[in-house]
Amino acid sequence: VIQAPAVATQRSTREWQQADSKHFLHPFTDFGSLNKKGSRIITKAEGIYIWDSEGHKILDAMSGLWCVNVGYGQQSLIDAATRQMKELPFYNAFFQTATPPSIELAELLAQVSPPGFEHVFFTGSGSEGNDTIVRMVRRYWDILGQPERHVIISRKNGYHGSTMAGASLGGMSYMHAQGGLPIPGIVHIDQPYWYENGRDMSRADFGKVAAGWLEAKILEVGPEKVAAFIGEPVQGAGGVIVPPETYWPEIQRICDQYGILLVSDEVICGFGRTGHWFGSQTMGSKPDLMTFAKGVTSGYIPLGGVMVGDRVAKVLIEQGGDFNHGFTYSGHPVAAAVAVANIKLIQQLRLVEHVRDNVGPYLAEQFESLRDHPLVGDVDHCGMMAGLLLVKDKAKGTPFPSELEVGMVCRGHCFGNGLIMRAVGDRMIIAPPLVMSRAQIDELMALVRKCLDLTLADANRQGWL
Ligand code: PMP
Repeated sequence: VIQAPAVATQRSTREWQQADSKHFLHPFTDFGSLNKKGSRIITKAEGIYIWDSEGHKILDAMSGLWCVNVGYGQQSLIDAATRQMKELPFYNAFFQTATPPSIELAELLAQVSPPGFEHVFFTGSGSEGNDTIVRMVRRYWDILGQPERHVIISRKNGYHGSTMAGASLGGMSYMHAQGGLPIPGIVHIDQPYWYENGRDMSRADFGKVAAGWLEAKILEVGPEKVAAFIGEPVQGAGGVIVPPETYWPEIQRICDQYGILLVSDEVICGFGRTGHWFGSQTMGSKPDLMTFAKGVTSGYIPLGGVMVGDRVAKVLIEQGGDFNHGFTYSGHPVAAAVAVANIKLIQQLRLVEHVRDNVGPYLAEQFESLRDHPLVGDVDHCGMMAGLLLVKDKAKGTPFPSELEVGMVCRGHCFGNGLIMRAVGDRMIIAPPLVMSRAQIDELMALVRKCLDLTLADANRQGWL
């Protein structure tokens, strides 16, 4: 037996940072500027906390990257991975083969999904899931003899991943600017962001107006050319933008009217985050396809996929022939075993109900109470995700000049005070683990208020107000 080599954990922070800058190109990072500063080295985690290499304990209100739904250190997930690693660490699903964990997971996913979802296509990540969506919806219309239906409509400031198709579906202009995106056949409409685009009307009226932009785009492109519409139930990376309640039902009506496939990107909203298993259930839409990743394994191991509803599955299975698409890790047995353990844990702990009936409403109440803070222009919340907007003049809703990077100032205070809160421009956002208790939300909110006060003190000192 060959012993596993010990992983060197004993280096100093400085040594880790030097090796990091020398070799590791981080995602979505200005490499040069990070190298000057050095990364923060995260060394361990437990429950809702992480620790850095200097021993600082930090409340992780972003669940890693929107994914650690069950919190850190869950033994049943660790055991599932260990057992499966020993039993069968890998086998593929290409050559008319399958492994027990991947089959069990497919079955379990069908159980927790809304009615009409009996099939799943596995990928390694959310981006690959959305690449799969593009190929699958186009294949669907090809099989039905309507190959001209190839245009997919998505939204500005939506996020669907970083691969060629994922970044094209996404509406981040700074991503499109690199690598010649979007790829052909993907067009964007404006986002349902009431505070920025609709404050002159009620939220309900604005929701219908924003959904109407989809209809206008369908008519502009030509309904016979439109394959699908894709959106996140709640925009996550775009800044936790919760659409008005009227938005998704109207989107559903429009998709139905024109026979267009509706795709819900559930990569963040899936697996309990919004108080239902999937965000589309919270928002009242009935998608044909759902992309998932992140919360399916609580991020303990990479896994993603697409839940394929009956409308599409029937055509692919009964008329489709070969679907020439898939990944080495489609249905990876260790990832699947961890996902099964994770879903069973969510069920055992009744986390979906915990979010819907207990901590979700409590977090909403707490965020609403931030409206009295001088810097807070607006708040948004849905289940265990929430955001607030920092503004210069709350009566008028005047934003800070973007060059002040007030969000980054606030984020700096969060880091410095043991809280992970993310800044998207001047929107401060959180998506904490679903296992949080009310007492832990109190602890979180005390930190949020403290960091807002420190930011306010900076703003006063610097004359930004
Ligand atoms: N879709 C959404 C809604 C996401 O938030 C993300 C990642 N943040 C992705 C897709 C891409 O997932 P991944 O990073 O696993 O490729």
